[in-house]
Amino acid sequence: MATTTSIDAPNPYHVAQHEIGRACEALRLDPAVYRLLSRPMRFVEVAIPVRMDDGRTEVFVGYRSQHNDALGPTKGGIRFHPSVTPDEVKALSMWMTLKCALLELPFGGGKGGVVCDPKRLSPRELEGLSRGYIQALAQVMGEEKDIPAPDVYTNQQVMAWIADEFSQIRQQNAFAIVTGKPLVIGGSKGRNEATARGAVTVVREAARVIDLDIRHATAVIQGYGNAGSVAHRLLYELGVRVVAVSDSSGGIYNPEGLDPRAVAEHKRATGSVTGFPGAQVISNEDLLELPCDILLPAALENQITAGNAPRIRARLIGELANGPTTPEAHRILVERGVLVLPDILANAGGVTVSYFEWVQNLTHYYWSEEEINQRLEQRMVGAFRRVWEAARQLGTADLRLAAYAVAVRRVAEAMEVRGWIHRTGASFRA
Ligand code: GLU
Repeated sequence: MATTTSIDAPNPYHVAQHEIGRACEALRLDPAVYRLLSRPMRFVEVAIPVRMDDGRTEVFVGYRSQHNDALGPTKGGIRFHPSVTPDEVKALSMWMTLKCALLELPFGGGKGGVVCDPKRLSPRELEGLSRGYIQALAQVMGEEKDIPAPDVYTNQQVMAWIADEFSQIRQQNAFAIVTGKPLVIGGSKGRNEATARGAVTVVREAARVIDLDIRHATAVIQGYGNAGSVAHRLLYELGVRVVAVSDSSGGIYNPEGLDPRAVAEHKRATGSVTGFPGAQVISNEDLLELPCDILLPAALENQITAGNAPRIRARLIGELANGPTTPEAHRILVERGVLVLPDILANAGGVTVSYFEWVQNLTHYYWSEEEINQRLEQRMVGAFRRVWEAARQLGTADLRLAAYAVAVRRVAEAMEVRGWIHRTGASFRA
């Protein structure tokens, strides 16, 4: 995840701008649409003082990018990671706008980040940082303004501290301020699994259209956090043989297939998938090039680059991570006939169930897990069909362009009817 602009590790903000530009061009939109969508409407930087266990005060830098709220309050996770940058947060917020629009959720896009290494913070320090983040941003956040959620290295506990701190500021319970909370304080059933479940749903739909028999397919997963590990289990349940998985420490490979329960248990016990008995060691780079039908990058940005794209052997790629494929790599893959399910479609299950959680919080009525999973399934299948149909109308095999076109068109329409843009001139109806 670099921030320099080079072919192999482009700046994600430039990538997001480039992709939005391509969609605006395909739709022949008024240039004002691009000018508005190519930057966040609001970007806030905060300094967060945290009392560390040794008595020192550490000052962390945090960001919140509110990209566009034409369709509703902005929505998107908070990332705690050492390599968080303003440009990365801006890009991630742009992808959220598009993801929400594509899934027809009544949200705009936002994203937050704190530059820190949460693995080196004690639970007490992490709590101080989580509370400090929402304190610093409370003015611009709220259930009708901007609703955070988990992202890389933030979890239910972090969301619980945020819900509590915000409720203290408001002096009333305000659980709808944040999603991805523990069940007991208004979390939603199925939220933990939602990103992976959504991805597996669209992978299944895509497999159908390219005549790939999912029950005899093989898969490789890069990244074993919430998204990657649950995707492993759900694919296994569908009969897919997952032959390799990895995390930030490295990868494991067994052509006979890896049992998700045993790998998850090993990771829980040792902190990593590496050293899993009976599997070969493989690097994160080599893993991407293994022979397989389905490749799921579920880690960070810029993993599939112009350097390795020619050697990728999967037929179908589902982007569980945000921005894992560089534009140049994507062009190579599409040319080679690899079907890439873009991030704004493939990983949109998380924010979709976040939407369900928000609705449940606001109405105080809670749904069963079956209801959640069924509604998620409907939304994901609907979004896949819209993208597939748009690709047909645009005459392209590039599903990223198609997905962006559907999403950008919806945001542009909202901006037009709200009077922000005089006339979008959209020439395409999906
Ligand atoms: N961080 C997740 C994403 O990138 C979820 C966001 C949310 O639930 O608001 O889509």
